[in-house]
Amino acid sequence: MNDQLTIALSKGRIYKDTLPLLEAAGIEPLEDPSKCRKLIIQTNQPNVRLLIVRATDAPTYVSHGAADLGVAGKDVLMEAPTDNLYELLDLEIAKCRLMVAGPKIAKPQGHQLKIATKYIKSARAYYASKGQQVDLIKLYGSMEIAPLIDLADKIVDLVDTGNTLKANGLVPEEHIAHISSRLIVNEHAYKTKFKQINDIVEKFKSAI
Ligand code: AMP
Repeated sequence: MNDQLTIALSKGRIYKDTLPLLEAAGIEPLEDPSKCRKLIIQTNQPNVRLLIVRATDAPTYVSHGAADLGVAGKDVLMEAPTDNLYELLDLEIAKCRLMVAGPKIAKPQGHQLKIATKYIKSARAYYASKGQQVDLIKLYGSMEIAPLIDLADKIVDLVDTGNTLKANGLVPEEHIAHISSRLIVNEHAYKTKFKQINDIVEKFKSAI
């Protein structure tokens, strides 16, 4: 039986916050991805390896079975296709909020509300739930600029301390969702490697 376990996660905040959980499960990376350019990191457990991927790609690796487990933000999961994967655990790391934000002094608008966001699916679902028609404008970053130069009236973005909004003259207006990182698992791997995966899940649970 193939007992190789592959875990996909991204560098930075998610990696840093997942390390103590991995350690609690007895998994220690043999290299530090922030210091080396390797994207496949072996661990002290010969049958466990880490894939260092873009945060938005983690669900894709898990969904296709290229990784058995993954760590992904709820914001990413709400946007990604989630075929063949289960969300196993709220890791309660990388917490923030998905919010609507707009200029401190709202400009009068004679048109349908324009919303700039990276989170098109989430924003569409949110406004649909309010029965409000909006124009969604897809951006990949620096959403805060959009209302300042009249590309959009408001933005939908992640907010942690609120400092980025404040620095750009925006204020948080509506709360859409609480965001944190989740442990995801490939549906097939969860069946075939149940014991191995469940053991990690239990150790993660007690460490959270
Ligand atoms: P803040 O200024 O602390 O409110 O942080 C807001 C900026 O950091 C925004 O550009 C967000 O996209 C980003 N951000 C905040 N929290 C997270 C998170 N948990 N995951 C990813 N990006 C985040």
